[in-house]
Amino acid sequence: MSQAQLKNDLDCDLAIVGGGIVGTTLAAALKASGLRILLIEAKTLEAAIARPQAYAISLLSGRILKGIGVWDKILPRINKFKHIDLSDADYPQTVQFETQDLKTDELGYVGEHGVILEELHRFLATCPNVEWLRPAQVTAVDYQEDGVEIAVEMNGETRKVRSRLLIGADGARSRIRSWAKIKTKGWKYWQSCVATQIKHSAPRNDIAFERFCDSGPMGVLPLPGNRVSIVWTAPHAEAKALQNLSEAEFIAKLEQRMNGALGKLELVRDPAGIRVAARACFPVQLMQSDCYVKPRMALVGDAAHCCHPVGGQGLNLGIRDAAALAQTLATAHQQGEDIGRLKVLKRYQSWRKRENWIILGFTDILDRTFSNNFLPIVAARRLGLWMLQNVRPLKIYALKLMTGLLGRKPVLSVNSD
Ligand SMILES: Cc1cc2nc3c(=O)[nH]c(=O)nc-3n(C[C@H](O)[C@H](O)[C@H](O)COP(=O)(O)OP(=O)(O)OC[C@H]3O[C@@H](n4cnc5c(N)ncnc54)[C@H](O)[C@@H]3O)c2cc1C
Repeated sequence: MSQAQLKNDLDCDLAIVGGGIVGTTLAAALKASGLRILLIEAKTLEAAIARPQAYAISLLSGRILKGIGVWDKILPRINKFKHIDLSDADYPQTVQFETQDLKTDELGYVGEHGVILEELHRFLATCPNVEWLRPAQVTAVDYQEDGVEIAVEMNGETRKVRSRLLIGADGARSRIRSWAKIKTKGWKYWQSCVATQIKHSAPRNDIAFERFCDSGPMGVLPLPGNRVSIVWTAPHAEAKALQNLSEAEFIAKLEQRMNGALGKLELVRDPAGIRVAARACFPVQLMQSDCYVKPRMALVGDAAHCCHPVGGQGLNLGIRDAAALAQTLATAHQQGEDIGRLKVLKRYQSWRKRENWIILGFTDILDRTFSNNFLPIVAARRLGLWMLQNVRPLKIYALKLMTGLLGRKPVLSVNSD
């Protein structure tokens, strides 16, 4: 997208700080709202797209992106999965989720950060109500009665932008959140996760695996081209050691952990034979902001909450926040309300905060009960696995929770069903 020229007197209705997937989804969802939107992003587009991460995308997120009108471009570039295989170390009772359980054509999708972000950018280029400032940093914010004044540093100059509402979509270490003095609850886990991509030789490439083990869970998500995205959680020192293993040692450990389910494994290389998938190591945390809104300000995505990567939920919660906030703001604007008023913003908070707590709690319980070798807990979770596989209502409830199909649905997703 060509960089919009900043006019000196630029005023907007909505200034979104953070042009990651959540911030851009919010802007895209407001295409037809009549609101003037300014997206402020610190990184260049090339740097943002180069993030080597892949995500499990839930059925609900797919429906939201379809409702926005960008899904038809994303879908051919990502992978679908039709089966989820959940297992606990070498315990023979596994849980197999199938498309028949939900009567859907797939159970979810796996897409790369760069692909999703690139298509959202292309879509935003068709939105006359959206302008970009990038690479640009927000350096100060001044909240006033009828709006907010934002200091933006760009090309070595600081400019002032006035907006009716400021959105913090600036990730887990949100400055918008800390400047607004919003406290958070949560904890850092004793684990980190190692993320990378691997090529495999198994004939099926539509199975998502969640392999639990007492050091931590490992998610294996199928990507196009017989590749898988690996998110391997382990205590910090073990995760660091996994990151530093030689290629052969890492592959051997992974083959052992997957018990042959993916056939022969090799690192992803470019056509010149150079390894392209780095092994990145991330600390893991649970965080929930005490509030998501203040007068003239709202938080979305990781700026508002973070969860353990088990079950691949974090980005999906953010996409749902974006759709819920877009709906709240568009409706308020249509009815002639001031979108920056606390009364309006609280409708978004009361919709999303409680629903996010449920998923944060679910991922925490999942990690704690499976990353554990205390015998009574091992016995209880194995009974739980048996029940999940054999008690149908429980199985369907768990699957609906993971695919985003429980809870209040944004209109965007309902219209696209
Ligand atoms: C290993 C791993 C695997 C994961 N797997 C999954 C998965 O399978 N499924 C899933 O749903 N989630 C997953 N997650 C979670 C997911 O990565 C996050 O929830 C998601 O990326 C959050 O998106 P966001 O847009 O809110 O924040 P971010 O992606 O952090 O984007 C924030 C943006 O704000 C910009 N920014 C920050 N500060 C400023 C500033 N002052 N001025 C201007 N711009 C600024 C940044 O440059 C960035 O572009 C995973 C996480 C990890 C670590």
